[in-house]
Amino acid sequence: MEIFVAKESGFCFGVRRAVKIACEAREKWGTVYTYGELIHNKQYVEKLEQQGIRAAESIEDIPEGAVVIIRSHGISPQEEEKLRRRFKVIDATCPYVKKSQKFASRSVRGGTELVIFGDRYHPEIRGILGYTQGSGIVISDPEEVLKLSYTPKRAVISQTTNDLEDYKRFVGNLLETTEKLTVYQTICSSTIEKHRSAKDIASRVDLMLVIGGKHSSNTRKLFKACKNIQPNTYHIETAKELDLIEWENCERIGITAGASTPDFIIEEVVEKIKEGKNGRGKKER
Ligand code: SF4
Repeated sequence: MEIFVAKESGFCFGVRRAVKIACEAREKWGTVYTYGELIHNKQYVEKLEQQGIRAAESIEDIPEGAVVIIRSHGISPQEEEKLRRRFKVIDATCPYVKKSQKFASRSVRGGTELVIFGDRYHPEIRGILGYTQGSGIVISDPEEVLKLSYTPKRAVISQTTNDLEDYKRFVGNLLETTEKLTVYQTICSSTIEKHRSAKDIASRVDLMLVIGGKHSSNTRKLFKACKNIQPNTYHIETAKELDLIEWENCERIGITAGASTPDFIIEEVVEKIKEGKNGRGKKER
């Protein structure tokens, strides 16, 4: 049996950066709070909690004057202002998300209707909507775009973790109802590379595993992209879930992981497969 671990598996640049910022703040200030979970991974959030990096779900959960970290997804300017009034704020918003926020606010200021390809309940999109004063139109399905009425001028951005092929379809459909369309390529390079390598591996193996939190939006998209290529693809959160899958008779197993999956969880999955089958793990670089 051979095991192929995709390039760019696990933590992306933005998540690594946010974790580093949080750890440095913890060193300097003692217990710190993140506004929302720093990453969508239960196991890692628990680890951070033990180190004094606590996740707060709302402003009310944070003691007055505390140090608060804005996570990589970013937040709306209105929320940021509220936080800055009561706490010492450290901004760990990913630079790619910052770029989307800038494009959104520029479009709306210029009087252009903004269409956002993404999930309206995802924190990144909720934050970006704040930069449009709520005027951004969020659509998650490329086919839904065809229902929009004709508009002479629009701009479009994508959630940073969407699949590039889906975004191309989204933009293509938008052209059917828009005369002048400004397209911003806002899918981050980390996602593009992650999807590219995962799809490549999915096309060459008998079983594909996508590791990541069940609520992690980017992991679910990665799973969907792999499943389209290899129907024998499973989304698992930890090595324990391997017990629910028939993998022992597979010759070639591919592994990838969402942007919020820590290395130790990927290693546990690889180790469990190796122990079970004496496999030869290969890391694709
Ligand atoms: S997925 Fe991309 S945009 Fe999102 S935090 Fe990671 S690097 Fe930044």
